[in-house]
Amino acid sequence: MNTNDTEIAWSILQKAGYSRTLELQKADVVLLVTCSIREKAEQTIWNRLKHLTASKKRIQKHKRSLTIGVLGCMAERLKSELLDQEKLVDVLAGPDAYRDLPRLLSLAHGGQRASNVLLSLEETYADVIPVHQTLEGHSAFVSIMRGCDNMCSYCIVPFTRGRERSRPMSSIVEEVRMLSDQGVKEITLLGQNVNSYRDLSKLQFSCSERNTQLSRGFQSVYRTKQGGLRFADLLDRVSLINPNMRIRFTSPHPKDFPDEVLQLIQERSNICKHLHLPAQSGSSRILHAMRRGYTREAYLELVENIRKIIPGVSLSSDFIAGFCSETEEDHQQTISLLKEVGYNIGFFFTYSMRKKTHAYHRLEDNVPAPVKKRRLEELISVFREKATKVNMTLIGNTQLVLVEGKSKRSSEELCGRNDGNVKVIFPKTNLPVQPEKTQMACITPGDYVLVKITSANSQSLRGHALNHSSLNDRKTA
Ligand code: SAH
Ligand code: SF4
Repeated sequence: MNTNDTEIAWSILQKAGYSRTLELQKADVVLLVTCSIREKAEQTIWNRLKHLTASKKRIQKHKRSLTIGVLGCMAERLKSELLDQEKLVDVLAGPDAYRDLPRLLSLAHGGQRASNVLLSLEETYADVIPVHQTLEGHSAFVSIMRGCDNMCSYCIVPFTRGRERSRPMSSIVEEVRMLSDQGVKEITLLGQNVNSYRDLSKLQFSCSERNTQLSRGFQSVYRTKQGGLRFADLLDRVSLINPNMRIRFTSPHPKDFPDEVLQLIQERSNICKHLHLPAQSGSSRILHAMRRGYTREAYLELVENIRKIIPGVSLSSDFIAGFCSETEEDHQQTISLLKEVGYNIGFFFTYSMRKKTHAYHRLEDNVPAPVKKRRLEELISVFREKATKVNMTLIGNTQLVLVEGKSKRSSEELCGRNDGNVKVIFPKTNLPVQPEKTQMACITPGDYVLVKITSANSQSLRGHALNHSSLNDRKTA
């Protein structure tokens, strides 16, 4: 999300005549795009700000100025603390105020501290074409919505990023088409709750208004929006733009998975068979306290339904260890959920209390830090054990891999991701341009190659590449 925010802010600044440098010595302005989701993320920024202030003093000795700005969620959350108390920053811009950056910076150049942290009900930056900078240009994030209305009891996002609003479909389609023309091979549709996407800009009624999930044990604090174009419509349109471009999305919420979305994912070969299904906990009691809107049973039923419609789907999830009042028994329930589902990818966090949230006001952060840490380690270890087994089932299969570049460990190896978003590592070699063809070609980032899997662990798969390929003639059996 922050990568995408950086790309939007950067596009606005570029238009205003700014150019970018990655060297601090050359910079007149340094902007930090920040996250407030956990205490640790904010601590990183405080440390960075202290270093930057020291650099600013050194630079000022040479009669040059350095403007320091904080963008995003921390600007929103800690307005006066950042600007007045600590006096570490000159410019503050909340997540909905990036268009105002040129004005804020010019005020700062005139010697004033400047801030805009107003949240908007409409801003989606629909007309701002982000300056994409990820993965050497072969993969790009496309924002489809901003904000969140879910109000999970532990979460700061609805307070820092404001109310949920969807970007009009026409501008999303236009951006994806442009990226496709530029040779981008993979896009990730981005939002806090992508599957509740609703383009209400042209109130058309789509084929079906049923949201089958809500009738299967899922609830939402907020009323589901009616009418307009839904996530299924968006996925349909976007995936038709270029059948050789992979489509991913993150993060969906388990409550919004109607069968039409699942069926569309199964039918379209370029929509990746990977779903991020953030569970957070395996205990219904804790899920209730988290205000997630589902029980363990409803979540497991959803997993079963997903696997029925999309056999072989890869699943990932987020988990929080040590939420308010979590007992050893609740923790064991999460362990058993991890074992039962068998995720390919997992993200684990210890609970970090955030001001303003329901949990801050109403619940007690009463699991001691060492217990949170121990539970976190146990969750990670159970996840790894299970993920190793899940990934090992792919040994002997061939996987279609979109090549990202050299592997971290060796320049003789390449790495990329399979359809399920699992990392695949294989030796660098020249390959037949097609199966059974004698003409050979080297492998470059952005190529699709077929890789035969020979070993696996919880983090990655290893194998050897067989030939160049494409999504059109994908063979993953
Ligand atoms: N909209 C996304 C979440 C974005 S935040 C979703 O619902 O999936 C990413 C993850 O951070 C969350 O899924 C949750 O696991 C974690 N998280 C959020 N608030 C947290 C908190 N206060 N303490 C610890 N982890 C938290
Ligand atoms: Fe936070 Fe819940 Fe919204 Fe995700 S869905 S951003 S966890 S409030």
